[in-house]
Amino acid sequence: MEQVFAPWRIEWVKRDDKNPAVEECVFCELPDRDDARENLVVAESDRAFALLNNAPYNPGHLMVIPRAHGGDFAALDDATLLDHARLKQRAFDALDAAFEPDAYNAGLNIGGGAAGGSIDDHLHTHVVPRFEGDTNFMPVVSDTKVVVEGLAETYDALHEAFAAQPDARVPDPDAAVALDFD
Ligand SMILES: [Zn+2]
Repeated sequence: MEQVFAPWRIEWVKRDDKNPAVEECVFCELPDRDDARENLVVAESDRAFALLNNAPYNPGHLMVIPRAHGGDFAALDDATLLDHARLKQRAFDALDAAFEPDAYNAGLNIGGGAAGGSIDDHLHTHVVPRFEGDTNFMPVVSDTKVVVEGLAETYDALHEAFAAQPDARVPDPDAAVALDFD
């Protein structure tokens, strides 16, 4: 079987059965919900948040998302660019601590369907941990059942890792870890 690495095609999947209220933009709405754990929001900063992909390519596959709605990377202001980049740094640190991956792929889908993404109007950076041999145990991109079943464990491991970082706060056990970069 030919192996094709295409994690960018695995977007956050709208769980219409669980989230009937999601109508406009999921990336705008999710960080405002009360139960971060239920909604897979694992960490947040002033201008960005980290969301586990609920159809992960690998364990720990997350997205770092500016809070500001928009699909134009050039339109992000300096404060948002810096905050988003710092949260990416923290995401790599948390993933290192929780899963010790061998490598990472990280990137943005920009410009619509040709880039492979399905949520074009709100920028998000995929962060995909890579493990030696991972294309062997995940040969079919659509067959993500095994990893999906581990989402709660993945969330808890990353939540703990973010919470151990400098200047991290956990307002309550079901809240995202709040990170302060100032
Ligand atoms: Zn949005």
